[in-house]
Amino acid sequence: MADQSFPEIRSTCPYCGVGCGLRLRADGAGGLEVRGDPDHPANYGKLCSKGSALGETLGMEGRLLSPRIHGQDASWDEALDLVADRFRETVAQHGPDSVAFYVSGQLLSEDYYVANKLMKGYIGGANIDTNSRLCMASSVAGHKRAFGSDTVPGTYEDLEEADLVVLVGSNLAWCHPVLYQRILAARKKTGAKLVVIDPRRTASCDGADMHLALKAGSDVALFNGLLGAIEAAGAVNNEFAAHVTGLSDAIAAAALDDDAVTGLPRAELDAFYKLWIGTQKVVTVYSQGVNQSTSGTDKVNAILNCHLATGRIGTPGTGPFSVTGQPNAMGGREVGGLANMLACHLDLENADHRAAVHDFWDSPAIADAPGKKAVEMFEAVGDGRIKALWIIHTNPAVTMPDADAVRDAIAGCDFVVVSDITAQTDTARLAHVLLPATAWGEKDGTVTNSDRTISRQRAALPAPGDTRPDWQILAQVGRRMGYASGFDYASPAEIFREYAALSGIAGKLGRDFDISAKADMTDSDYAAMAPFRWPASANRTGGRFFADGQFYHAGGKARMIPVRHRAPASVPTQDRPFRFNTGRIRDQWHTMTRTARAPRLAAHLAEPFLEIHPDDAARLGIAPADLVQLDSPQGRAILRARLTDAVHRGDVFAPMHWTGETAPAARVDALVAPNTDPVSGQPESKASVVSVAKFTPAWYGFAVSSSDFTPDCAYWARARTRAGQRAELAGLSAPEDWEGYARKLFGLPGAEAQVMLDARKGRARIAFHHDGQLVAALFAGPEPVALKRDFLANLPGTEAPHALTGQPPADAPDPGPMVCACFNVGLNTILQAIEEQHLLSVDAIGAALDAGSNCGSCRPELGAILASAIAREAAE
Ligand code: SF4
Repeated sequence: MADQSFPEIRSTCPYCGVGCGLRLRADGAGGLEVRGDPDHPANYGKLCSKGSALGETLGMEGRLLSPRIHGQDASWDEALDLVADRFRETVAQHGPDSVAFYVSGQLLSEDYYVANKLMKGYIGGANIDTNSRLCMASSVAGHKRAFGSDTVPGTYEDLEEADLVVLVGSNLAWCHPVLYQRILAARKKTGAKLVVIDPRRTASCDGADMHLALKAGSDVALFNGLLGAIEAAGAVNNEFAAHVTGLSDAIAAAALDDDAVTGLPRAELDAFYKLWIGTQKVVTVYSQGVNQSTSGTDKVNAILNCHLATGRIGTPGTGPFSVTGQPNAMGGREVGGLANMLACHLDLENADHRAAVHDFWDSPAIADAPGKKAVEMFEAVGDGRIKALWIIHTNPAVTMPDADAVRDAIAGCDFVVVSDITAQTDTARLAHVLLPATAWGEKDGTVTNSDRTISRQRAALPAPGDTRPDWQILAQVGRRMGYASGFDYASPAEIFREYAALSGIAGKLGRDFDISAKADMTDSDYAAMAPFRWPASANRTGGRFFADGQFYHAGGKARMIPVRHRAPASVPTQDRPFRFNTGRIRDQWHTMTRTARAPRLAAHLAEPFLEIHPDDAARLGIAPADLVQLDSPQGRAILRARLTDAVHRGDVFAPMHWTGETAPAARVDALVAPNTDPVSGQPESKASVVSVAKFTPAWYGFAVSSSDFTPDCAYWARARTRAGQRAELAGLSAPEDWEGYARKLFGLPGAEAQVMLDARKGRARIAFHHDGQLVAALFAGPEPVALKRDFLANLPGTEAPHALTGQPPADAPDPGPMVCACFNVGLNTILQAIEEQHLLSVDAIGAALDAGSNCGSCRPELGAILASAIAREAAE
């Protein structure tokens, strides 16, 4: 319960690019009460399941609280001196390209700006890249090719004002839930149409008017088909075309493509083209399914071409709209966090821009060529060209394509520094120096969301231990490297004022990003700063760009880019016939360093999985809940099979969240080929090729415990529960002494054991009690063990005399797998309410159980449960 004597502080969610505003109030015991900010223009008080559970992810467990050198606690002076000395010596000996920073869309803009300044203006190289390269670099490149600047033309209001919203390669319902709910709420009033273009049937498809399940990687052919249809229908906007070059070349290129490569029936294609062309107010939203591709930039331009050809851009309810994955991917773009850009949307390859930044910084150097983009950077780490590497708030040993090779490259690097809030990540374990940073809730600065709204993140909790903010750590290293005057910052407000002033110079050089009106703000103005969207200039309608036909290329015109369909770089073979798609799930974020701490978030999908079509599974002898092994030229993974026709035959999908900490055999990016887009350098994370085969261990197990435990077997996946921890297990050889195995697993050498063994069938059930309460239990057998897992997961800490039955007693009904994370409502409870109360709509389920009535993230799932319950009843 929050202590009302603490003030309520306005801040911003640290997860996705929607950038929801929060109200935080300390509880006086190290925790926070978190609610949506009713006044924030991104969410107006709404939060999704992840944002709602932020208060449960705090706590000092696992926090890195002091610097460490080679695993030993050290003082800040020792650690900072070592980092500064090693970077300075390496640059002196091998040049500026021998060092690199790999940073993160989790950084605040002020942190990002200082890192970028240190590398590009003082070290003099440009080897600073960010995990946003994996997220939206293709959108940046596409924007720059079309508009002459990395400008998102529209706003969130456009998604509500449109008569047609098209989601391309975007599971908005799970990945940007509050924005998706805004669209659904608007649709209820306006009747707007929703079309989803995605090879996979996702939660976003439930309730959509049309789902085009195109073949992976065929988006360019689809939008080229649309461009051809626009021309054939006479729907080119000739008035707007005066502001555009390349129209006829783009149409000619489009005509060379055959939209049949999408695999979609002609009637579906024609229906989509007709709907798009016949709807003036159309917004095309796209994200990772477009960006994470070897033709990602071309996909972006194929979409932009259609909007430019029709002039559907910059006016209310129109435009292409790239949604960013991370909370500050946009802010990183604004302050130059990518290897090929300068701060304030200035170009590294433009001599005037370089000179302006060099002059403004009054720095000893300025990078004069783009640095290495993420994949190239880790290749250079691997072959020794990069000898000192500083990784800040990201986990590339898990998230980069070819993750095993990246992990090995980091492990072999001469000098690795990691700034993070925990030492317990796959990457932090490889560091020579660990620097403890402040976490969300403890730090101050700004972030920019997907519609260019800049909001404050504010500290609501004191910095614990010896932790420091990232801008300060970076500035202290800069000063110790000998650059005192460039990094003499006293506060994030000072940094913000500096880049706001630089943006004024960028504005004079014709750039879009100009927030120089804020350059003179006082510290108290900064402290009180309300969210604002740039630009503020009057000639931009409602904060939108390009309705006036003014673009940022020389001459002021937009460019339509001729693009052609190209298949993904990895080609399926007889040995590796499956197209491997990766993505996010509803209740987890990135590598789960924060979300895995919240039991209710882990309860929705507690284990990594592989979606595979039932026909493919049948052919391979794979049954539901079997484990499957995937192999690619890069690596191997073991996942739990989920049979579903949501994926095409020949396609498989797996979430990307699990790590060496949570499921070491399920690091799916180890399977992903390091193929990149030739323009943006963004990796193709959704179209590698793999083989799939049934994995047959000697035994399967399920374990629960009131304490953390780390299994040691061929496959395991663990998740936090309200009672402690749960884990799925599988081993290649069955222990001869199951009780001894269980004691070792849980670290309970002397606990009282209840044992049920069936030696003939190889089954074992062992429960440990202490002081009359269950502390741990293991259920094992030669096939996947059928149990009421969600019931068992919450038993530790209770008497649980019948735990070994694996079933709830008759007087304790099993709520079933959790569906609604906000109100903790399980599947069985929902089914029972549907049947007994004759519920006929998702709203009725909400009224009866609250499920789906808060963030709405589970409403698609509730709809599917309801539909199948009604169908079952009709069939009976
Ligand atoms: S939609 Fe959810 S994860 Fe994204 S910013 Fe809002 S609360 Fe955070």
